[in-house]
Amino acid sequence: MSDVSIGSGRAVENEAADHSESSTKLAEKKKSRADRRRVVKGKGKEVMQQQDEEDEADDVQDSASVASSSTLSAGTVATQILDEPYQPGKSSQPRVSTTSPVMDTVPVLPHYEHRQVPDPVGNAFPRHGIFATQDIAAGTRIIYEAPLLAFPSLRSDPTVLMPAFRALNDHEQDMIYKLHPIQYTVTQNLTDMAAMIRQHLPRFCELSNTPAATITQAAKEEFDQLALELSEACETYRVTARWEAHHQVLSPFPSDDPLAAEIDGSALFPGTALLRHSCVPNTHKYFNNATRKLSVHVIQDVAAGQELTSSHLEDNFFNDAATRKFYLQQDFSIICECTACTGSFVGMHDTARLHAYRCRKQALPIVDTLPNVGFSAYGADLRLDEDSQLDRWKVNEALLVQLLGALRTTGCLDPELVRWLYPLFTSVLPRTAQGLADAERICAWKEILLHAQRSVEIVVRCLGRDLEVAGSLAGLVKVIGDKVERAEERMRVLRESRERLGL
Ligand SMILES: [Zn+2]
Repeated sequence: MSDVSIGSGRAVENEAADHSESSTKLAEKKKSRADRRRVVKGKGKEVMQQQDEEDEADDVQDSASVASSSTLSAGTVATQILDEPYQPGKSSQPRVSTTSPVMDTVPVLPHYEHRQVPDPVGNAFPRHGIFATQDIAAGTRIIYEAPLLAFPSLRSDPTVLMPAFRALNDHEQDMIYKLHPIQYTVTQNLTDMAAMIRQHLPRFCELSNTPAATITQAAKEEFDQLALELSEACETYRVTARWEAHHQVLSPFPSDDPLAAEIDGSALFPGTALLRHSCVPNTHKYFNNATRKLSVHVIQDVAAGQELTSSHLEDNFFNDAATRKFYLQQDFSIICECTACTGSFVGMHDTARLHAYRCRKQALPIVDTLPNVGFSAYGADLRLDEDSQLDRWKVNEALLVQLLGALRTTGCLDPELVRWLYPLFTSVLPRTAQGLADAERICAWKEILLHAQRSVEIVVRCLGRDLEVAGSLAGLVKVIGDKVERAEERMRVLRESRERLGL
């Protein structure tokens, strides 16, 4: 996702100057939110550039024309959209293989209930939230569901959306109607539909009030035709407003992987859609391309009664509270009241997000070229071949440590951390450790081991232990742990020999 870092750079560095102007331009342009979300693949891309908007519009048109022939209903959908399993890429970053036959057998317990919550925007429609009915430990999978609607690309075209919706049974349609609709001002499509309904409604009312004795045959036919058109328009509006508010982009972790575009798609998961937004969410959702289901894990301990939240930020993660507020309102009609948006921690979050963004921008091109150490072939004495560029590795280490620290300050608990821990413990730290004396080198490798163990914990907590990547990382932890243990043993034997010899 090389375009991500480019887009991000322009946006954040110009944030103060560009924000109000760009925001106005965007509002005037009034593109559909689906168009904007077309390029969303994960943290790291901002959305304020006019040129980006235009490029994206072209992309959307292209993908729309490809997708127009396939409309799929629940159950069979994902199989048809995502024929190709996700393949590991070439970079040094960890990839999640989605081969996980176990997943279908993982129990998902009823840990929560739906409740109506007040709408801070003051809309008439009630909003729903999901609240824990018991204490939930971090790492618990709370939702595992197939989509009700899914398409091979981002689609909001009613000619594709509505046939798929009408193919659902009554219960499934009710699940969608239960979701909170987005405001009609958010997308041009909804605005046009609302205008069409408003335009024809007065004539319909006029005809319906005409006394039966005086109404003509032509007027009766006009009335029936208008009734049909308005009925269809209202149904289309209701469904589209829910789709626009709640559809998900289907791209597996790591979400800003260039390969993600190959399995791009969009889907509506009605259970997950009831999770309300927080910029510091306590759940993580992950679409498994192998099982074609979305899983939601709780990523920090949650107490009974606490609301479960998910993030809608996607490419806005690194923006400050004011910018996030603008886009959350514009795209989702959401006013966020999380700790990163309100209260005394806003400044701390803003600073950390900007710092993390800048470090990430520097780190992205570097870590893509880092060679892994190759743990299995690596000598048991924790030494590497001579490397004349030790200073360079130390600079990379400082950068990654800063990035991870800033991410933690933002409240990030998800696999984004693994994205940066992985190059740290597979490439950078082993290189810097080799410049140390024996005893210090073992300490450094113990730190490497801790980073590897931390990575496994994050993957298991956010994605489940049944994903192949969790097993791969756990295998790596064992290899590193064994090597550290052997090195310690050798040090102990050496120390005892010296003591015996009185050295
Ligand atoms: Zn927030």
